[in-house]
Amino acid sequence: MEYAALVDVYRRLEATASTTEKTAVVADCFAAASEAELPLVVTLIRGRVFPAWDGRELGVSSSLTREAIRKATGVDDDRVERWWREQGDLGDAAALAVENRSQQTLFSETLTVETVHETLVSVAEYAGEGSQSRRVDGVAKLLTSAVPDEARYVVRTIVGAMRLGIGEGTVRDAVAAAFLDGDDEAVAAVERAHQLTNDFRVVAETARDEGVEGLRALDVALFRPVKVMLAQKAEGVDEALVEVGGGAETETDESETTTAAAVRCEYKYDGLRTQIHKRGDEVRVFTRRLEDVTEQFPEVVAAVRERVSATDCILEGETVGYGPETGRPLPFQELSQRIKREERIEELVESVPVVTHLFDALYVDGESLLDDSLRERVDTLGDCLDGDADGSGALEPAIAIAPADETEAREFYEDALSQGHEGIMVKNLDAAYQPGSRVGYMLKVKPVMEPLDLVVVGAKWSEGRKSEFLGRLHLACRDDDTDELRDVGWMFSGLTDEQLAEMTHRLDPLVTDRRGREVRVRPEVVVEVEYEEIQRSTETESGYALRFPRFSEFRDDLSPEEVDSLSKVERLYDEQ
Ligand code: AMP
Repeated sequence: MEYAALVDVYRRLEATASTTEKTAVVADCFAAASEAELPLVVTLIRGRVFPAWDGRELGVSSSLTREAIRKATGVDDDRVERWWREQGDLGDAAALAVENRSQQTLFSETLTVETVHETLVSVAEYAGEGSQSRRVDGVAKLLTSAVPDEARYVVRTIVGAMRLGIGEGTVRDAVAAAFLDGDDEAVAAVERAHQLTNDFRVVAETARDEGVEGLRALDVALFRPVKVMLAQKAEGVDEALVEVGGGAETETDESETTTAAAVRCEYKYDGLRTQIHKRGDEVRVFTRRLEDVTEQFPEVVAAVRERVSATDCILEGETVGYGPETGRPLPFQELSQRIKREERIEELVESVPVVTHLFDALYVDGESLLDDSLRERVDTLGDCLDGDADGSGALEPAIAIAPADETEAREFYEDALSQGHEGIMVKNLDAAYQPGSRVGYMLKVKPVMEPLDLVVVGAKWSEGRKSEFLGRLHLACRDDDTDELRDVGWMFSGLTDEQLAEMTHRLDPLVTDRRGREVRVRPEVVVEVEYEEIQRSTETESGYALRFPRFSEFRDDLSPEEVDSLSKVERLYDEQ
């Protein structure tokens, strides 16, 4: 397929705001792709080169891209920079540069989807000395052959600013429409296959070649992280027991109720959701964002090798940092040092020691356990762990009880809080594992008013003393219907000088366009935000604004796709 044909698809997607139309355009594009092109188009349609679970990044900043534009077109950087500022989009500036190119190209060839994809993959793989200039050369080579429109979308793909409004939901529906009946059953099969594989390439090819049955036969695979099951919030312990206990509430005396035996309560640990994949001595540790953090947690890897008796398995838990002196859980902020820094690992192992508290088993020795009940899964998890849990290692089972009644559950909740944990999880022992879903099989109970996890979509340079910082942050939640980001207004406070510097350092490379003192950024930095109240607003895309929003912490464990949804904002608004 010529790249120009994909560019035509991008243009049609840009021309419509309707999700139904977008889905139809994407479905046509998938159906038209040849056997070999389909996996490439499936990722490129969302402006990506790799599937979600693949940790590789292109590693081409906007300044390297500008260098490539200059190299390919001969247009000097000042003009490109000016166009970028005027158009507010580096892709548009690249198109203008190609249109105004001052040097004729000798080696121009027609771009195909394959060449663009292949070049971008090799750009991502350059490593070591001289890799930056090889990246620039790779991008320049593409731009040399590009017509203006092609240059626009190549550059938008590189800087991650496609903004076509194509979420996972649209790709899912398009796969179901292109290769299956497109009905609810087909959509559900595609959805589940994606939750298991995190790879639309595998899903689309399977749908095309083997239909719904093939999708249903897809299973978890070692070293390809599964989307984790998510929790819903309960108002309190009693409500959670009733809800999870399947409504098996029975009156005893006046107000006391007893719960069904099918409930398990666990401590809710405040740390990093961790999925451990093991085959023999090979161990990899993934976050809920599907990032590979194996190198950062050597003590967990060692403990898995030592204590997990299963040869092959996928286990899940929460990794928590503990104060070396106090033995109390550390705030997530402190643990996050362990996630980011790849240098100084040994030192951090000492200063921020961690324990992974295991609470689930998804796969053990050739058997997928996803359809087993939680009761069976925790039994299997227990069987996989050698040695007694004495609380001294880097790997321990989560503390749990099967409460006989509400009083026991409430006491357990108080215990969790007094130990410095966030609260408890209340889980249905009869429920299967539902990857990526928030289905009410596990409820969290925690005391505080719920903060929001939001993504930074823009920023302004601060005024006065702090003018070298990007201190005013434009925040967005995610519209669950369209998967697009909708802003909820600006946040000005809560960051210390150190955090302001960190925020500026993180946002600077993500800038996609700038206007005066305001910038738009690629939505990557996720923050937890506290606020006094949620108000209705005509000024924001979401229709809501936060009153007195305050930064609480960076949420490096969450991906931009996982920020809180508009319907959650609506619900919290209704509940105030
Ligand atoms: P929240 O992030 O507040 O929606 O709470 C859900 C998160 O709690 C999960 O994604 C896990 O990272 C974490 N968590 C802590 N303890 C547990 C537990 N015992 N079972 C399941 N999830 C837990």
